[in-house]
Amino acid sequence: MILLTSDTETKPTQAMRQAIATAEVGDEQKGEDPTVNQLLERVADLLGKEAALFFACGTICNFVAIKTHTRPADVVLVEQMAHIIRAESGGAAMTSGVLMEPIASDRGIFTVNALAQSLERVATAPYLYSSIPRLLCVEQTHNFGGGSVWQLNELRQVCEFSRQKGLATHMDGARLLNAVVASQTPAKDFAGCVDSVWIDFTKGLGAPIGAVLAGTREFIAEARRYKHIFGGAMRQAGIVAAGCLYALDHHVERLQEDHDNATYLAQRLSEIEGITVQDPKPETNIVFFDVSRLGLDKAMFLTLLQQGGVKMGAVGHSIRAVTHLDVSRADIDFAVDAISKVAKSSWH
Ligand SMILES: *Cc1c(COP(=O)(O)O)cnc(C)c1O
Repeated sequence: MILLTSDTETKPTQAMRQAIATAEVGDEQKGEDPTVNQLLERVADLLGKEAALFFACGTICNFVAIKTHTRPADVVLVEQMAHIIRAESGGAAMTSGVLMEPIASDRGIFTVNALAQSLERVATAPYLYSSIPRLLCVEQTHNFGGGSVWQLNELRQVCEFSRQKGLATHMDGARLLNAVVASQTPAKDFAGCVDSVWIDFTKGLGAPIGAVLAGTREFIAEARRYKHIFGGAMRQAGIVAAGCLYALDHHVERLQEDHDNATYLAQRLSEIEGITVQDPKPETNIVFFDVSRLGLDKAMFLTLLQQGGVKMGAVGHSIRAVTHLDVSRADIDFAVDAISKVAKSSWH
């Protein structure tokens, strides 16, 4: 079965498992796991931040960051299709008691103007009746926007504007390193636009568990308390941090292969009659396409495709395919053939 459902489908390689098996470990809760500490130093340095904190996954990084930046009844401004409002079970509402104000955009990348409009809807100082806008979140790359990349100048503009308005800034950088590789922009430069940022090791980087949140020393000290409260503190977490370190050493530059495979997939799919590819030149590793012209609904299409040996997923009105380290160019060819067959069979 070829798994294009998500880049979370990656399984640890033999070499990564070797690194995991031989990891030095200690008590992570007490800050005494040497492998975790090494990872935190690496990531803080990569992102140009003072301090960092290890988590089991990215979702809790978002919860803890939002909790640390806000107080209950504050407003978080976030793009309308962001993972934070569409795919985290409403958790920030429960754990932080915040309101989410959606920002309009086409593919996840919004303008200063769109942000200003959202802000105007929310806030009229001195905030007696309106709630208080406290935090702006950006997503790099933007998942449901099709793996779209914030260019550095676009990101700088919105974060600068946001800061002038007194808001803190947070980056959901689940796929920040895809943006780094695609745009040839150092991670530090993107991360320098925001107060807090995290990266995920379980997406294209191919580790089994792990995400790292970074920020100022003060921010991380407070985040550490919330991590504990949320049940996120661990013990011999070096076991998994070793996989993350391995990924930093071996799986970053190769993300370009995933991007090339996504572009190849998008181009081949756009040649199939009845398939509408959202972006024939995807910026990173995510391809969205529409099958409604085939006269098939999404669920039926996915079932037929799976019978042909390929798994994909549905997001909104579209089918989503995500390339990653366990999918080769030959696998993409196989997937395209399987989709062609489904498309042909749907015509009669
Ligand atoms: C996957 C993802 C998350 C959540 O990360 P997990 O490690 O799966 O919890 C958050 N934001 C974005 C944009 C993601 O793609």
